[in-house]
Amino acid sequence: MHTIDHIYINGQFVTPHGTEMFDLINPTTGQLDGQVRLGDVEDTRRAIAAAKAAFPAFSRTTKAERGAMLQSLHDAVLARADDAANALIEEYGGPRSSSVARSRYTANMFLDVKKVMDDHAYVKTVNKSKVVLVPVGVVGIITPWNSSAWFVANKVATAIAAGCTVVVKPSELSARQNQILIEAFHAAELPPGVVNIVNGRGDVVGAELSVHPDINKISFTGSTPVGKQIARLGVDTMKRVTLELGGKSANVILDDADFSKAIPNAIAACYMNNGQACIAGTRLLVPAHRQEEVKALAKAAAEAVVVGDPHDAKVSLGPIVTQKQFDRVQHYIGVGIAEGAELVTGGLGKPAGLEAGYFVKPTVFAGVTPSMTIAKDEIFGPVLSIMTYETEEEAIAIANDTPYGLQAYVSSTNLARANRVADQIVAGRVHINGIHDDLIAPFGGFKQSGIGREFGPYGLEAYLEPKAILGETAQYR
Ligand code: NAD
Repeated sequence: MHTIDHIYINGQFVTPHGTEMFDLINPTTGQLDGQVRLGDVEDTRRAIAAAKAAFPAFSRTTKAERGAMLQSLHDAVLARADDAANALIEEYGGPRSSSVARSRYTANMFLDVKKVMDDHAYVKTVNKSKVVLVPVGVVGIITPWNSSAWFVANKVATAIAAGCTVVVKPSELSARQNQILIEAFHAAELPPGVVNIVNGRGDVVGAELSVHPDINKISFTGSTPVGKQIARLGVDTMKRVTLELGGKSANVILDDADFSKAIPNAIAACYMNNGQACIAGTRLLVPAHRQEEVKALAKAAAEAVVVGDPHDAKVSLGPIVTQKQFDRVQHYIGVGIAEGAELVTGGLGKPAGLEAGYFVKPTVFAGVTPSMTIAKDEIFGPVLSIMTYETEEEAIAIANDTPYGLQAYVSSTNLARANRVADQIVAGRVHINGIHDDLIAPFGGFKQSGIGREFGPYGLEAYLEPKAILGETAQYR
């Protein structure tokens, strides 16, 4: 049993004023695995006060000083990578290989951000004036449960690079991984108050961060409805917001693609993170005359996925995070069937032998039309919808027929054609021929997938405000 009964304020682990205990259930077993004591509004205000008090001195630190902190954070987080991977596996069922990889690049994030900071000009000349990029202030960081520690690490690293202080409200479902992270932050000996963390409910701690006048910016990753609520709550105090929200990403397979690679890739792009990824390619758009071939390839690839205990290195699909999310995914599979989509493989119920946990059968639907619910809603589970198109123009129109615009995928052997299609898809990132990692290129969404960008120079600038000094200017540091 893991008991997390402290929050982190002003460089110290303290007992929260809040007394509610939240159960942590291992989704692989369905059994109670621990408890976390939740902070309340008073805890949030104490954390904000600590971040506010630390801001003036921290905002004046040099790049060299902050670079040394980012290096220490990298070292401390890397030293806990194995613990973090285990927490990911047990807390939300992340398969071992991806959990280990994710824990390592969570640590590397601090060095990536350090390099971006070192390369970024914080003082520039625009026309005849000096422009200084200054930290936006005290930042409230609110994160979801999927890959939670990684989101926290990226946001904290970027805030530090900018000279901001922070209060973090992670998802209550990911308390273990975030506890490990904050212990690493403590080991890195940051100045007190620069990073504070309060476990708690969204509508309590998250809402207080969103309205508090001493929070200058909210950096949020989570669902679109909650993102909208946070933006509304922050408007009276004119908070800056970075909102990384939901998605319903299209995966466009052009008729000249190598289907033997593109279709298994499409399964991987949809089932990543147990199908619980904002960037999942959930709508597979294929030429109508190739649908039968696609169905056979997708069925074979989905049925080859090994579902089970994510501790097992052979497993690539673990459970859904909670009973509630499991029920939601089942609901959508039922709606897909009821609305007349063709079930190619998978379907309702749990895979044989895995009844204890929240496991979903790797599912593929074909004959999905744009008006069906499963083509429109973010399901957040391993459920792929195959849709057909007649022309390239129609493929682009279907890809863009969504309120979301987070990512897209295009496969073709003709790179000029693939790039032409990519240019016309309204999404923050488009992957050509495969799933690609780039933690420096901008990441974020068009339309209702969010506001602003993370990663690299664009992500850094989201924590900085340009300030122009006019007249007789001079450099003094
Ligand atoms: P969620 O929106 O339910 O919760 C996210 C965070 O917001 C949690 O910490 C939660 O406690 C908090 N919260 C809830 N209500 C709040 C309120 N009223 N005020 C302030 N904070 C509140 O999302 P989730 O279920 O944890 O995560 C899944 C969602 O996140 C999916 O929609 C997914 O697409 C999205 N997501 C987006 C990205 C991205 O980068 N665009 C990445 C990962 C996940």
